[in-house]
Amino acid sequence: MKKRLSSQQKLKKYVLEQNLCTGCGACVNLCPYQVVHSDRTVQLFDCDLTDGKCYTFCPRTSADHKKIRESLFDINDLTPEIGAVKGYYLSRAADSQLRARTQHGGTVTALLETAMAEGLINSAIVASLGDALEQEGRVVENPADLRDWAKSRFTVSPTIAAFNRPPDGNAGKVGVVATPCQALALAKMRTANISGYTKIESLGLVIGLFCGWTLARERFQALLNKYHVPVAALGGMDIPAGKNILELYTDSAVTDVPITEVDACVRTACRYCVDSTAEFADLSVGAARFGVDVNEMRGWNQIIVRSVRGRNLLELALKKGILEVREAPAAALAELKKAAADKKIKALANIVEKSRSAKNLLYLKGDDPVVKKYLKR
Ligand SMILES: Cc1cc2nc3c(=O)[nH]c(=O)nc-3n(C[C@H](O)[C@H](O)[C@H](O)COP(=O)(O)OP(=O)(O)OC[C@H]3O[C@@H](n4cnc5c(N)ncnc54)[C@H](O)[C@@H]3O)c2cc1C
Ligand code: SF4
Ligand code: SF4
Repeated sequence: MKKRLSSQQKLKKYVLEQNLCTGCGACVNLCPYQVVHSDRTVQLFDCDLTDGKCYTFCPRTSADHKKIRESLFDINDLTPEIGAVKGYYLSRAADSQLRARTQHGGTVTALLETAMAEGLINSAIVASLGDALEQEGRVVENPADLRDWAKSRFTVSPTIAAFNRPPDGNAGKVGVVATPCQALALAKMRTANISGYTKIESLGLVIGLFCGWTLARERFQALLNKYHVPVAALGGMDIPAGKNILELYTDSAVTDVPITEVDACVRTACRYCVDSTAEFADLSVGAARFGVDVNEMRGWNQIIVRSVRGRNLLELALKKGILEVREAPAAALAELKKAAADKKIKALANIVEKSRSAKNLLYLKGDDPVVKKYLKR
């Protein structure tokens, strides 16, 4: 009789060895057997469990995404392109000093500061730089410290590993800043219904980031070397609207790298990703790439409100004067939906090319209406 694979063996065979691992960290710190090394997830010891949480929570193992969507969101809000939409605006932090320290409009940091100050969450997990390009999830308990970890780094952060780590004492509710794959892992944790798994009850908020890709550390390091940008001097990075370049910021210079060269550094797992707007978050935030004055729009975000929890937080931040919103131009939502649909079509084509069959969609299910809509047969 064929021996049944353990959950860890299945994770290795169907995710890690298939280059499908997004590096989200959801399988780390659940046990001592799996760790993050550089930007890779590594299995240190064997585990026999056949019902391991690592496999269940991984965003790259098969799950009923339709059921997850319908259990976490109002089905009347669901759109095929970008998931649930209760509201869609342009937003920015009212405090210009905060904006100066953040990636775009500072919406993410302003929302976290509001949620902590108002007691909706007791701590927040954000991404922080460890050494060089290596990031890790960081638990922030003092809202004043959130600004230190603002801005985007386009290498992966295994943020969910920090959520899995046992807290000291009763840490109360936690908010997590998550890329789309990380928001999916958290949604799987919320809906898995595993007896005795109480950690998820501490999840008070998920702020999602729009995400096109992350960069594989070694390849990105080589690119930085090529352009003579020392990692230690790298203070930020961004992709300005309509320019097809990645800008790398140091104190003394801005270096432009053509996007074709950046594309060669994209983590392989991201090519199979169908979510660009963090569809499983309470609120999702991205760059605002519209309008005539591109430079002005760099100081704004697009925000999608998805859940009641997300709507309540946005309303609170507006009432307190911490956030400003503008109606988004009519074309903005259509443009966002088109870009999101294009990512789904491309990723599904890549999945079929990898599996060599439209009947094997790796971690996705063929009967999901969203998959059906965008799968080109
Ligand atoms: C890998 C990546 C890809 C992205 N791709 C796009 C895109 O294609 N289109 C788009 O519109 N927007 C994209 N974004 C989002 C965008 O860069 C901004 O994060 C977003 O507009 C919010 O801006 P802000 O000023 O509110 O953020 P801030 O207030 O500066 O807060 C940013 C938050 O992101 C966290 N963070 C930084 N790096 C990471 C990381 N690697 N993983 C997880 N969390 C992180 C920080 O800890 C901080 O909490 C991407 C972000 C990342 C991290
Ligand atoms: S995608 Fe996330 S949960 Fe899955 S193997 Fe990679 S790090 Fe672990
Ligand atoms: S593109 Fe998808 S898989 Fe890659 S980091 Fe972003 S959300 Fe995760």
